[in-house]
Amino acid sequence: MEITVLGSGTSFGVPSINCSCEVCTSQDPHDNRTRASIWIQKDDVSIVIDTSTDFRQQALREKIPYIDGLLITHCHADHVHGLDDIRPYTFERTIPVYANELAIHEFEERFSYIFRKTQRGGGKPKITLHTISESKLKEGAEITIEGIDILPIPLKHGEIDVLGYRIGNFAYLTDCSTIPVESYKKLEGVSDLIIDALRYRPHPTHFTIPQAAEAARRIGAVRTWFTHLCHDVLHEDLKQELPEGIAPAFDGLKFSVAD
Ligand SMILES: [Zn+2]
Ligand SMILES: [Zn+2]
Ligand SMILES: [Zn+2]
Repeated sequence: MEITVLGSGTSFGVPSINCSCEVCTSQDPHDNRTRASIWIQKDDVSIVIDTSTDFRQQALREKIPYIDGLLITHCHADHVHGLDDIRPYTFERTIPVYANELAIHEFEERFSYIFRKTQRGGGKPKITLHTISESKLKEGAEITIEGIDILPIPLKHGEIDVLGYRIGNFAYLTDCSTIPVESYKKLEGVSDLIIDALRYRPHPTHFTIPQAAEAARRIGAVRTWFTHLCHDVLHEDLKQELPEGIAPAFDGLKFSVAD
């Protein structure tokens, strides 16, 4: 399984508009962060988690050839507002989209034009919505895209319920501030982990860098990458100070995960 980090930045992206801080003006390309999302390739199956605001640029950069399924973590703008740009992938097919109940409701509202019979032709992405219900989450049921089993992982992002996803030995946990005990159990044995680590200072809805390090230690993956980084965080500084096995993610980061 191949993982590609499409975007590793917080909702503003880095650089942030109208900011001249050290990170926003950094010459290190690792400090250029588009909005958070990833691409997963396994056995010719192509899965994207979140269509970020920067999805078009990310898909062009990584030359994503097709998408078999789309997993949504939650409906915040930075994670879904690139949805319209999946249109080139839906000329010949309809793409299934998976999300929890809360996100599906918001999705239907936010992208109501997709579901209205007001336009014809190629003007809208062709998708089908699939709700990962509360009862399915309680049961610990997996979803399957083209033969690939995916375990949704309930997380708390401040007050709201969001999802992380586990595929085999890899888990992606963006935008979270609490991992419920039951979800820690679902993460047992993960070898490779990407987890939210917004910044050093506390935030009501995101793990800080120390909190993410503690969660990573508890999960015990062999390799962990921090994502959803904001402009308080200089890539090179963070890389130096993190313990062995943890590193900052960056746009274009690719790694393989063993079965
Ligand atoms: Zn976000
Ligand atoms: Zn800045
Ligand atoms: Zn969010």
